[in-house]
Amino acid sequence: MSLSKRAELISPSATLAIAARAKAMKAEGIDVIGFSAGEPDFDTPSYIKKAAKKALDEGFTKYTPASGIEELKKAICQKLEEENNLEYHTSEIIVSCGAKHCLYNAFQVLCQEGDEVILSVPYWVSYTEQIKLAGAKPILIEISEEDGFKISPSQLEQAITSKTKLFLINSPNNPTGVVYSKKELEALKEILVKKGVYVLSDEIYEKIIYDAREHISIASLGPAIKKLTILINGVSKTYSMTGWRIGYAAGEKRIIGAMSSLQSHSTSNPTSIAQKAAIAAICEQTEAVDKMVVEFRKRRDYVVERLKEIPGISCLRPEGAFYVFINISEILKKRYNGEIIGDSVHLAELLLKEARVALVPGAAFGADNYVRLSYAASMNDIREGLARLREFIKKLVNGEW
Ligand SMILES: *Cc1c(COP(=O)(O)O)cnc(C)c1O
Repeated sequence: MSLSKRAELISPSATLAIAARAKAMKAEGIDVIGFSAGEPDFDTPSYIKKAAKKALDEGFTKYTPASGIEELKKAICQKLEEENNLEYHTSEIIVSCGAKHCLYNAFQVLCQEGDEVILSVPYWVSYTEQIKLAGAKPILIEISEEDGFKISPSQLEQAITSKTKLFLINSPNNPTGVVYSKKELEALKEILVKKGVYVLSDEIYEKIIYDAREHISIASLGPAIKKLTILINGVSKTYSMTGWRIGYAAGEKRIIGAMSSLQSHSTSNPTSIAQKAAIAAICEQTEAVDKMVVEFRKRRDYVVERLKEIPGISCLRPEGAFYVFINISEILKKRYNGEIIGDSVHLAELLLKEARVALVPGAAFGADNYVRLSYAASMNDIREGLARLREFIKKLVNGEW
């Protein structure tokens, strides 16, 4: 039996592969420090769990409308208005099984063979696969660390062709931790509006942001760009609710309607009780999120300081999300037991096997000169993990392996 061409286009998620190997080693009793997590390590706040329990006890356990319940859509509209200065009607909102599912639905209803989707490298692993699954072609714009890992207006403009269907932006960014400023977004907006290019704005790390930086949704920069934007967000990262699978998209009614139809024939509604939990998460103002962000910031500061002391590697100071993207280009020429370390996957494998720390190879994000360190880990693990990393890399740099 041959698989479909579609299935053969996609490769399994490399981030999940390393995390799975680390998990298997742990299960064998090997003490591995995990820096590969793509999710917060905190428990879901109890006020959110309580709302889910209540929904369960009240028997809210049946199908809901496929695109989500009205009450949740209203809560999302209110959030977008109050926090992002964006006005939407509930018919312009879809709730899906995670932001990832929203992205998938969007690509499926917007893209077809021959279409191009512009995105910058490094990119989040699933974007390119989802674009290919929709029959479109990812147009990858290399952005450099020297330029702060940000796409410039001229890079964007040069990439736009008659086949361009979408531009994809993710701020705060996974894997770089970069946050675009209002001014930078304004400059990109000018191009997008001038050329009439639609934009998918993945804002899943909106609230995980540091140093008084402000998250700006590109959609909020005027009616013309709002009309062109499909905004993607969700509760996974902000409220440590990755397993609940609730994400949402906001955009033009015609697009959201098509996404809803598609969803009605595939997954149907996202889990009923998770939707109720999401209402509590979004509507009830508590200190839970602030506390998590304070903790993440502490860890970021610690990690960046420790990394600076390790020879042969460097990193930018992340402004959001919970990742540090570590430049390993100098390490890649080094030898381990006589063997040249050829790429980021090789280094990540060695780090896992020899130093017992799990990081994600940059190749997974299209940037082979890097590895991604997630500091969604306890302070104790971070201390120990960085000590191991330092020891391994120091020996590598000194040619002691
Ligand atoms: C985690 C993540 C998502 C997916 O979030 P879910 O809501 O859990 O599906 C989307 N985009 C980026 C950049 C992410 O890191």
